[in-house]
This record gives sequence, C-alpha cells and structure tokens, in this order.
Amino acid sequence: MKENIHPTYHQTVIRCACGNEIPTGSTKEDIRVEICSKCHPFYTGKQKLVDSAGRIERFRKKYEKFQNKETQE
Ligand SMILES: [Zn+2]
Repeated sequence: MKENIHPTYHQTVIRCACGNEIPTGSTKEDIRVEICSKCHPFYTGKQKLVDSAGRIERFRKKYEKFQNKETQE
C-alpha cells in the first residue's frame, strides 16, 4: 500500500442533535447530524419538529423579507 494516498481513518462518534452518539470510524474527526435513527419520526413514530440550528426560523425570516420586498414593488 502506498503512503499518503489514503485519508487518515479515525475512530469517531457521530453526534446527533437529539444527543444520541453513534460510535463509528470515519475520515472525518467530528461528525454532527441533525437527525438519526433514534429521533427520526420514522423510527419514533411521532411527528417531531427538529429545528436544532434554527434553520426553520431563518427560512421564515428570509421568506418574510422576500414577500415584503415583493409587495413593496
Ligand atoms: Zn438523533
């Protein structure tokens, strides 16, 4: 095997927004996900809004702005 052509393989954990940690191996050192098998509605059977990063809020604000701009013109 040649050296320096393979990315370094780390032991790492995937951290989900719900707090679940999944030990894994990856070339990335820090993996963060917003949804995992523990909190996905498909697995929990519940409808759940996952908005850990405030993305929905940001989208709403952006959209409001867009609408206001349109009505002004
Ligand atoms: Zn999760």
